[in-house]
Amino acid sequence: RRTAIRTRHREAAETALPEHTDLYVGGEFVVADERETFDTVDPTTGEVLESVARGTAPDVDAAVDAAWTAFDETWSEFSAGRRQRVLTAIGDTIEDHTAELATLESLDNGKPISEAKVDVRGAAEQFRFFAGIVRENSGETMTADSRHGQVIKEPYGVVGQIIPWNFPLLMASWKLAPALAAGNCSVLKPAEQTPLSALRLAELIDDVVPDGVVNVVPGYGEEAGVAVSGHPDVRKVAFTGSTAVGKQVMKRAADTVTDVTLELGGKSPVVVFPDVNPKKAVALVQSAIFYNTGECCEAGSRLFVHEDIADEVLDGLVAAIGEMTIGDPLDKETDLGPKVSQKQVDRTLEFLESAREDGGEFLAGGGRPDDVLEDGCYVEPTLIEGLDHDSEPAQEEIFGPVLDVFRWDDYDEMIELANDVAYGLAGGVVTDDITTAHTTARDIDAGYIWINSYHDLVPGLPFGGYKQSGIGRELSGETLDHYQQTKTINLSLR
Ligand code: NAD
Repeated sequence: RRTAIRTRHREAAETALPEHTDLYVGGEFVVADERETFDTVDPTTGEVLESVARGTAPDVDAAVDAAWTAFDETWSEFSAGRRQRVLTAIGDTIEDHTAELATLESLDNGKPISEAKVDVRGAAEQFRFFAGIVRENSGETMTADSRHGQVIKEPYGVVGQIIPWNFPLLMASWKLAPALAAGNCSVLKPAEQTPLSALRLAELIDDVVPDGVVNVVPGYGEEAGVAVSGHPDVRKVAFTGSTAVGKQVMKRAADTVTDVTLELGGKSPVVVFPDVNPKKAVALVQSAIFYNTGECCEAGSRLFVHEDIADEVLDGLVAAIGEMTIGDPLDKETDLGPKVSQKQVDRTLEFLESAREDGGEFLAGGGRPDDVLEDGCYVEPTLIEGLDHDSEPAQEEIFGPVLDVFRWDDYDEMIELANDVAYGLAGGVVTDDITTAHTTARDIDAGYIWINSYHDLVPGLPFGGYKQSGIGRELSGETLDHYQQTKTINLSLR
């Protein structure tokens, strides 16, 4: 079986990999200044997929220059209607290549192909959504005593965008679509674990987007990422990733007083009330934590289940976990693929070890499954009960298929615990009582609350975090504001 999976991945790679693995700068693929590369690995098989250009500071300089040239000579001259056509064409191009892009994403990240297809559709939708609102992006006119005031929005010019490995293509589109819609050119740095779909996207849109409007500089965070976030000619930085790195990005941007938006980590609570059908609760909780192998910033990673329904829900979850298919992400039956890298496996296993030391009881999982590829980055879906809420595995973002379970019977105490983390990205409420649902949604200290669903992110509804989960909102009209600055023109009527 192992040989069959390796063969299948090699064959899939032959058709899905991008032709170019160099930097995409000014509409051309160019070798890195230092002519070095880094390997990106298939986390299912442990085999190298590609060697990709390793961008460093001089490459970021070149990309920023190319982006400014494109902004000055082309993109800033484009009307909103023309930008709309470009964005629509990008969305259509992505959709036309759904199968191929989903395969590439599955190979590079390890996500199940069924989920990778959802990502690709979401990426196309992003461009269409921002294409849809770009023409409404007009300013305001107002009078203030004897002045005629005009308040207009102007793009920053060149923005730097740094994205993570958990949703590589989707995050590229969450960044590029609003930036371009608002009239900016971008220097995008994909994560070193998953650079391929951004490069393939660059190939696909090369004919559609004017040269230099989108530039892709793969490389390491400490090299290319640092150069993007500290570049004096980058007027805005948008970052998605860990809270620790987000803080560094923000500090670096402070030197040039550069605007920053951050979409960071989470440790989101899912609250189950006793009035619901336990089966419904099980399905929701299972998806909230195990979707994308738990590698979601909004993952519902702390379950607060009411005492009266807890046994039924937990028994149901253990049974549901037992039925999950862990395996080859290219298989459409697979529910749980590998994590993105061996480093992420080690990180998750360290948290599991710490949970054991802290007296956690493992209701399911707790290690590596033994019946998949030995070089694959797999971790079992895991349920842990009995952790002290102050313990590290209950407080920190594990970013793996690991759910911490807490039983409750006092609402106020439960809410206090639910909010007792540094993060505030999302939360879930599972109840059929409309008043309880709304009250709890308001009581949870987070930027996005789902009632009776999870992970359902729709363009138009703003997404972003409270507390250390970030600054700014994506997916909405508000996002355009993050990519523009306000100019007031005050005309005296005297
Ligand atoms: P990370 O924050 O290190 O990486 C995210 C992106 O930032 C990558 O493109 C990386 O190259 C870049 N980067 C890294 N260091 C940088 C620096 N000093 N300056 C500028 N850019 C830099 O995330 P990671 O190490 O890949 O993952 C670690 C943890 O982060 C995960 O286990 C998870 O908890 C969290 N994470 C969160 C998200 C999210 O969507 N919120 C995504 C990925 C990872």
